[in-house]
Amino acid sequence: MKCPVCDLRLSRVTYARTNVQQCTDCLGLLLPNHRVKTIERRVDKELEQLREEIRGTPNHDTLAVLRCPQCQARMTKIEVKDFGFQLDECDPCQLTWFDPRELALLQLAFESRPQRLELNAMRERLKNMTATERAEYERRLSKLKDRGSPFQQAVRGATLDLLRSGIFF
Ligand SMILES: [Zn+2]
Ligand SMILES: [Zn+2]
Repeated sequence: MKCPVCDLRLSRVTYARTNVQQCTDCLGLLLPNHRVKTIERRVDKELEQLREEIRGTPNHDTLAVLRCPQCQARMTKIEVKDFGFQLDECDPCQLTWFDPRELALLQLAFESRPQRLELNAMRERLKNMTATERAEYERRLSKLKDRGSPFQQAVRGATLDLLRSGIFF
């Protein structure tokens, strides 16, 4: 299959431990629809890495109507709420085209939402601790910092930052 933007052959690559087709030129990605949700939820990177990736990738949301790389039919524009970009989907083939950054942005949004909720809950908990309890908590978190999923690590890292800054009121 060829890139709907550059017309160059797509290559098989691994993204978030899933096989997808990518254009090595524009870095856009073609995904079967059923994999989109899986990838969105399967963040195998630190949030900071994800942010770096987004910063380091050119932002060009393709506005022109694209042709499906599989059946050549016109793809449908799908507005992504809160992000101001559009995805291109071929419904009969169940394929979606992501311009560079778009998939990473979706992943970041998915990861950030629960992290923010978790942090708000943590802030409440910290408020109710005594100084001694907070110091003990900080010691325990420092030991655990690099363990667990990227999500857990991110929340612990952010909690430590909170504790050390003393600003949780
Ligand atoms: Zn391309
Ligand atoms: Zn198609």
